[in-house]
Amino acid sequence: MKDLLIFDMDGVLTEVSESYRAAVVQCVLHFTGQRVTPDLINEYKNKGGWNNDWDLTQRIASDFGVPVPHSTIVTKFNEFFLGENGNGLIMQERWFPAPGLLERLERAFQLGIFTGRLRYEADMSLRRFAPSFTFEPMICADDVVRAKPSPEGLQTIAARFPGRRVVYVGDTVDDARSAAGAGVPFIGVAAATHSRRDDLLALFASAGAIAVVENINEVERVL
Ligand SMILES: [Mg+2]
Repeated sequence: MKDLLIFDMDGVLTEVSESYRAAVVQCVLHFTGQRVTPDLINEYKNKGGWNNDWDLTQRIASDFGVPVPHSTIVTKFNEFFLGENGNGLIMQERWFPAPGLLERLERAFQLGIFTGRLRYEADMSLRRFAPSFTFEPMICADDVVRAKPSPEGLQTIAARFPGRRVVYVGDTVDDARSAAGAGVPFIGVAAATHSRRDDLLALFASAGAIAVVENINEVERVL
């Protein structure tokens, strides 16, 4: 019986600085006329509770003095992110795993996903970048009542595979807190270029991370 290695998506499997993060920037600019910096987005993310980029966009716009209804945020965000015919910022996304990484990991682990994305958003990227690969289990925002940092998604996975060790890999404090709440070992991904990396490392440490890597391609070193 293999252990389960569960990945967060954004910042772990997918590089989203030019997709989700850029959509936050464009959307805030649209409603407020102000440009939020990547560093300020990292500051919000490090505070925890801002895993959902629609909620985060609404909050930043509000903090910039422009309250916007949530549904209005979602509609505009998706115009930037999805575009008219799937030609939006999502096309700027990149795939982190180098060729062969997932295949090597799969020899020792069952590979799954626990993401705050809705399933259709996760599927869009997986069809594009890993069409022949199946992640199982795959827990998306649609599958949980409480989003990260709630441990619900990881608890669901643990309950579905009783007696199996579960390890979670994520890139935010909400991921680390979700794992800690579920009693699941956590490996943090902190990019060398992260503008608040020292803060993030301290947050990972206080949440009990068993290891930190700069990129998912280093994960074999710490397993
Ligand atoms: Mg993430």
